[in-house]
Amino acid sequence: MSAFLGNYAAVAGEDVIRQLRQLCVPLKGLRVVHVNSTREGGGVAEILAKLVPFKQELGIRTRWEVLQGDEIFFDCTKRFHNALQGMTLDIAPALLKHYEEVNAENAERLRPQLEEADIVFVHDPQPAALIRHFPQRRAKWVWRCHIDLSHPHRSTWNYLRAFVSAYDASIFSLADFAQVLPHPVYLIAPSIDPLSEKNLELDRKEIDAECAQFQIDRGRPLMLQVSRYDRFKDPLGVIHVYRLVKEFAPSLQLVLAGGRATDDPEGAAVLAEVRAAAEGDGDIHVLQLPGDAHRTINALQRAADIVLQKSTREGFGLTVTESMWKGKPVIGGDTGGIRLQIVNHHTGFLVSTPEGAALRARYLLRNRDRLGEMGRKAQQFVRENFLITRHLREHLTLMVGLASGAADRLELE
Ligand code: UDP
Repeated sequence: MSAFLGNYAAVAGEDVIRQLRQLCVPLKGLRVVHVNSTREGGGVAEILAKLVPFKQELGIRTRWEVLQGDEIFFDCTKRFHNALQGMTLDIAPALLKHYEEVNAENAERLRPQLEEADIVFVHDPQPAALIRHFPQRRAKWVWRCHIDLSHPHRSTWNYLRAFVSAYDASIFSLADFAQVLPHPVYLIAPSIDPLSEKNLELDRKEIDAECAQFQIDRGRPLMLQVSRYDRFKDPLGVIHVYRLVKEFAPSLQLVLAGGRATDDPEGAAVLAEVRAAAEGDGDIHVLQLPGDAHRTINALQRAADIVLQKSTREGFGLTVTESMWKGKPVIGGDTGGIRLQIVNHHTGFLVSTPEGAALRARYLLRNRDRLGEMGRKAQQFVRENFLITRHLREHLTLMVGLASGAADRLELE
């Protein structure tokens, strides 16, 4: 076993790694391409940055291609994102035309890689229309949806569905998000990499030093939310929660840590709203971190007493898993993928209002033993369900199924 795989065996168990290698045997020689719309910022990039090298390490020829688009394109796809997550908004025909043109240009740019592939995974709506330009495709094409599609705005979904229907299969994170489609639909939850900079163990000195650079006082309680500046993440709601809790815990500090995602044009406006709401309170730290600040986020998650993920819609919420892995019981919005991770009252709390979140935060601050006990359960829950090794096993199984066509019985060596 390589040193790389050996490290994962130490976290997940040797049998888990053995099973992954066994699943790779029928996939030998296969070429796989993943396509998404940003190399950094947000959960999809975070997942691909780990999944792709792991597949390569297992001997599968895997590439990661990123769609190139301009401001108007990302404005359109952010509207898709908002409408698919339930906002009522119509998208102008001119924007849709531009969306299709950008996909057409990218199809030509990526044609050599996509034509030589055996399996193509297309992530989210941004590159969904690529498929239209490969009518004679040899590869199996899979649409991987990472967003909360439980209540999509109908006309937007109908528009995208026309592209998605052409795929050979699709993957959703949760049964609630799955749509009726004319091909097999799979459910695969995302995962975190326990050995990445974002999640590996850090010593106390490093955590202290990271906090010191933002003037965070390690002697006082800290509340944290890590998220892109996106309205569905409800950063203003987080400030509301902090203010309610501060009445009872006056020394409380709040950190909102976010960054930039090149495919998210709304971030700057939301960040400005957050800064305005936080103005005048020196205990609120609104951070805009570079895309590679993984150790900083790791340290903040470890330093936090209370971790919030107060989303009103959430495809999965990797930030929830990341904090749970660090032994934190997360207080999360009762929505989407957060429900898959937070077992209410056991690995954290599910909440629907700022008042509810504040109540739970006060409870945890007053009951430190309970906080520790729930945190330990949270970590175990992640170990059993949301590590990259489980994610890979499901991906590889799906790939074996796709590669062997209609065979109704598969035997592994
Ligand atoms: N993240 C980051 N820097 C930031 C904000 C977020 O690296 O400033 C990471 C975060 O740690 C997580 C991912 O981006 O790994 C966000 O994934 P999630 O599923 O929580 O939300 P998404 O952005 O995909 O909606």
